[in-house]
Amino acid sequence: MNIYVKSGLREVINANGKMTILGASAVSESVVKSVGSALRNFVVIEELMDHAGRVIAQKTGAEDGCPTCGAASGLVIATAACIAGCNLGLIGRIPDTGGLKNEIILQKGQSINFGGSITQMLRLGGGIPVEAGCSNKVERDNIESAINEKTAALLYVKSHHAVQKGMQSIESMLELARKYHLPFIIDAAAEEDLCKYVSMGADLVLYSGGKALSGPTSGLIAGKSSYIAACKMQYKGVGRAMKVSKEAMMGLVTALEMYDPAQSNPEGQKKRMQLMCDELAQVKGLKCRVAQDEAGREIYRAEIHVGPETGMNAAKLNELLKQGDPAIYVRDYYVNQGILSIDPRPLFDGQEEIIIDRIKSCLLEG
Ligand SMILES: *Cc1c(COP(=O)(O)O)cnc(C)c1O
Repeated sequence: MNIYVKSGLREVINANGKMTILGASAVSESVVKSVGSALRNFVVIEELMDHAGRVIAQKTGAEDGCPTCGAASGLVIATAACIAGCNLGLIGRIPDTGGLKNEIILQKGQSINFGGSITQMLRLGGGIPVEAGCSNKVERDNIESAINEKTAALLYVKSHHAVQKGMQSIESMLELARKYHLPFIIDAAAEEDLCKYVSMGADLVLYSGGKALSGPTSGLIAGKSSYIAACKMQYKGVGRAMKVSKEAMMGLVTALEMYDPAQSNPEGQKKRMQLMCDELAQVKGLKCRVAQDEAGREIYRAEIHVGPETGMNAAKLNELLKQGDPAIYVRDYYVNQGILSIDPRPLFDGQEEIIIDRIKSCLLEG
């Protein structure tokens, strides 16, 4: 019995993904061991931070790295670093940045809510968010005309939450950043490729440690040495409110060392989800197919279309699944179109059957 169930909390079957609302990742035994050993001992935190930075650099191909307690704090710290640099006087003023270069430009279709809003994180770091263009269309000129003497950085948000069309590309944003000598930040929180955005030339790239990496609650920033030095300095300022624990740093380091995106096993995912689809397709009113992630990541989910012949709509089914015990959380971004999806990555062996049985009984009892 897991510790949550022992505490009287409901068991959760996570068919949704690496969700903060469900505790993000269930980590490997080696990450658990690192965290345990880290908790039992002392260390010079500055040296640990530099060590974590070196491992981040090695795994991302960046010059240096800075651990964070998540990608959200990565946004705060990267923003503060671009505004205050290593100047302790300015660092102490964050988030009050009147009179400083403090505007952070992002595309309107990327001004998302990931559970918290991107622009709030920028403001927490002392930034003034400037949303360029419209939510479904951003021209290069929209970005260029937003740049002025107060601009501190350009930000690109690589995420399935963002509008996937009509935006300026990373290359185009990077070219503008270079033209105007501005730092370029990429939020790649849930991305699987740790090297791509660094190698494209971004100055700071931030990731979540609890998503693709399957680490503990943590995050990282990879980037150019001078900017990373400024990121680390923010822990003497606004970063103190989001300090990274020694156990998070060691858990992150172990997760990084073990990380191998090739192990995501797309063929295995497809096979496992096809089996689920075959069973669910036999239920009257359900259609099911294996579909690749809408943002093009190597994730293959079972996409369930809940038709009217089931006598129930997708939203109601979703609620019933969540309310049961064990609670079943499926992916529901397209619930208003009658679609629920099963994400294979966080599923433990054998949980497919429990999900299928519950869907069937929910529809029967409807
Ligand atoms: C999840 C997410 C974040 C926040 O990451 P945490 O590690 O939970 O703080 C930030 N940006 C994007 C695009 C995300 O998907």
